[in-house]
Amino acid sequence: MTSESVEEFRARARAWLAANLPRLDSADAMPLQRDALTSWQRARELQKRLYDGGFAGICFPREYGGLGLGYEYKKAFDAEALAYETPLMLNVPSFAICCATILDMGSEEQKRTHIAAALRGDEVLVQLLSEPSGGSDLAGVLTRADRRDGRWIINGAKTWSTWAFAADYGLCLARTDWGVPKHEGLTMFLVPLRHPGVTINRIKQVNGSVEFCEEFFDDVDVGDDAVVGVPGKGWDVASRQLYHERRSMGDGSEYTSGPGIAEAEDISVDLLALVEKTDQVGSGRVREMVGRALAHRVVHGQLSEHVFHAVTHGSLPPAAGSIIRLSMAEVHDVENDTALAVAGPSAVIDDAAGLLDIGTRYLGRQIASIGGGTTEMARNVIGERVLNFPREYTADRGVPFNQVRHGKA
Ligand SMILES: Cc1cc2nc3c(=O)[nH]c(=O)nc-3n(C[C@H](O)[C@H](O)[C@H](O)COP(=O)(O)OP(=O)(O)OC[C@H]3O[C@@H](n4cnc5c(N)ncnc54)[C@H](O)[C@@H]3O)c2cc1C
Repeated sequence: MTSESVEEFRARARAWLAANLPRLDSADAMPLQRDALTSWQRARELQKRLYDGGFAGICFPREYGGLGLGYEYKKAFDAEALAYETPLMLNVPSFAICCATILDMGSEEQKRTHIAAALRGDEVLVQLLSEPSGGSDLAGVLTRADRRDGRWIINGAKTWSTWAFAADYGLCLARTDWGVPKHEGLTMFLVPLRHPGVTINRIKQVNGSVEFCEEFFDDVDVGDDAVVGVPGKGWDVASRQLYHERRSMGDGSEYTSGPGIAEAEDISVDLLALVEKTDQVGSGRVREMVGRALAHRVVHGQLSEHVFHAVTHGSLPPAAGSIIRLSMAEVHDVENDTALAVAGPSAVIDDAAGLLDIGTRYLGRQIASIGGGTTEMARNVIGERVLNFPREYTADRGVPFNQVRHGKA
């Protein structure tokens, strides 16, 4: 509990930000480059400043290094922080997904160690869920962890792991029992990434980004302290993780800090600036397109708030986080399509307009429809677990995993 009102907190944050963080429009701000290690070092350093200044982890409990304050305090800080360089890259997945999952499902020791270290800027955590065999059927993971001499020995491969190259730990879902149905034989591990047997390679995307990684685990030896939750109950942990992921993809997490994904300047296109730059303020067609995209953004913001509060108060189930996730993808698509239409041929031709970045962004248009689980899977979740429609047929339900046919017609 705090005796400080939201307005008082906001005023204190305003003064602290002005004195301690670079304004985005100043020469002191560093351009955000999510796939460069220098940007990650910078993010850790900024996070440390936030921590030392008493503004880190606003909604994380005090006993784990946070401030233990309500969502309205976080929103007040976010609004003040919009004009400043903040450690945005640490929001997702490190805080909003990984730390949030550890907070809900981890041991006391894991919470005290890892959440506190992340809030100090000392640790970055990522998600190791998807595998080369597929990501939507997450319970079908093939990475294995076998019990040997009281330890866990992990073997297998993960892929599409965002920012694993810059991280210290990964939440890794592995199969520990092959003789039970797929959801029952899983265990979640918090795996150190700089560890013998872990190989991390970077993957280059069509838009040039190298933020994705693939990891290979060869006899990676971890103890019981690496297990998050209970052995064999990894699906419970993964479900909680997916819940946090869906919310954070739609900017609906209380564990982020500063601008959300929707406002992050390197992800979201500033459509109004684009209209001015292309000298189309007077075009009715352009105004209509941009207005439509901006309206989507506003509606998404309202929807996120509504779903966040409804889930918090129990009038919607946690699976409703998928509504935010689905809406976010739609906003992203409309914005990217609008930006391309406004920029016209300059988005793909290196001419005087200098708008090639719009074309490059367009190459990553599908990101929001795939990352954090696909849009199709979000619709499935909303249909089955929010609207209570009948569940889709699955051939492997109730079948021991070692009897499930894989990759066969
Ligand atoms: C930006 C981004 C960041 C990511 N970050 C991470 C990360 O940090 N860690 C991580 O582990 N993974 C990450 N991923 C991977 C992501 O989770 C997977 O790409 C996603 O879950 C889909 O898996 P897949 O690509 O293997 O497609 P598949 O699962 O092979 O699916 C292929 C297609 O089939 C559809 N489909 C599959 N099953 C169904 C069904 N039951 N009903 C309807 N349609 C279905 C899918 O919607 C999709 O269109 C990231 C992906 C992106 C784009």
